Amino acid sequence: MKNFKDLQAQYEFDVYPKRDIVLTHGKNSTVWDDRGNEYIDCIAGHGVANIGHCNPAVIAAIEAQAKKLITCPGTFYNDVRAQLMEKLVSISPESVNKVFLCNSGAESIEAAIKFARFSQQKHKIICANRGFHGRTLGALSATFQPAYKKDFEPLVPGFEFVPFNRFEKMLNAIDEETAAIMLELVQGEGGVHSGSNDFFQNVQALCRERDILLIIDEVQTGFCRTGKMFACEHFNLLPDILCVAKGIAGGLPMGAVLCSDKVQPPTGRHGSTFGGNPLACAAAIAAIDFMLEHDLALMSSEKGAHLRSRLESHDISRIREIRQMGLMIGIELKEKVKPHLMTLMKNGVLALPAGATVLRLLPPLTISYEELDTVADKIIAGLYGVGLYQK
Ligand SMILES: *Cc1c(COP(=O)(O)O)cnc(C)c1O
Repeated sequence: MKNFKDLQAQYEFDVYPKRDIVLTHGKNSTVWDDRGNEYIDCIAGHGVANIGHCNPAVIAAIEAQAKKLITCPGTFYNDVRAQLMEKLVSISPESVNKVFLCNSGAESIEAAIKFARFSQQKHKIICANRGFHGRTLGALSATFQPAYKKDFEPLVPGFEFVPFNRFEKMLNAIDEETAAIMLELVQGEGGVHSGSNDFFQNVQALCRERDILLIIDEVQTGFCRTGKMFACEHFNLLPDILCVAKGIAGGLPMGAVLCSDKVQPPTGRHGSTFGGNPLACAAAIAAIDFMLEHDLALMSSEKGAHLRSRLESHDISRIREIRQMGLMIGIELKEKVKPHLMTLMKNGVLALPAGATVLRLLPPLTISYEELDTVADKIIAGLYGVGLYQK
């Protein structure tokens, strides 16, 4: 058998810290490595595979569309693209009614920044401490974590940071040059922290009063992850710009920016070669239909509550706090999380960090209750530090 790990390591430009396995197959919430080991996947491509790996509905849509048309520039109309745009607007907060399609979360943030600046003819954007919006230079400028930005400066000017959930600080940061406020509703990379309802209501009112655009980044929280189609629904928020990506197309690369009437389009001055390509559009239509048909938002909400109660049924002194909304779960430890992630992987569960001490779970929303129980048991066993593993 070929050693793909060494092969890739020989050629790959070393950007990603690596885990020591070669993943080759996936089905629903299970993935396999090249040695045939099986894992319950609570990473799911960082919250991409919401409807499971290799979802049959998405496979069928991709197969059919691949025979029809794979690429089509944004300067032409396209049948599947039109249908996807209609569908996206139909499931989104009622404030947004126009769609720009791109290929990733960071691209949706880049577009949002440009749309806000163009539309408002102002440059300042207020973001939150611990917020994460992506790795490209504009999105990185909107991202808080200094470690991600160090050595890549100078970044894009005009971004200011205020503590999440502190409305007075936000109020103080606003001035005549403020074009927009950009927030996640549950900060994913930042440690799975939800904003408070009061904070969001105040921010939304401030935006309306001062003619500032409210940009909500639902790249991670979107598509049923938090127990609603979009986390905006938990807080009755009506954004002017909604950025989505990760779970949108069953694993194919795609992002989208949804805009309200307040946002003016810079016609002829923004675009993307691959944005809205028909193959990804067909996959996204199938993915969203699957979410609606199976009421994945409700499933996510119920399964998240189940996993949480299972975890909380043990009083584990190493856990500081469990934060959970749907199947977006952060278990904050009183110690470093990395050794626990490695132990979990050895024992057949893939989980993520969110910072140094938070164990983050973003499983497919189609995961079974039995698998959730296994995940909980293995986490608990690992945190007790006893040899309870069954594998
Ligand atoms: C992942 C993520 C992004 C960046 O998305 P990419 O597709 O990796 O560029 C932006 N915002 C949030 C909240 C994310 O979780």
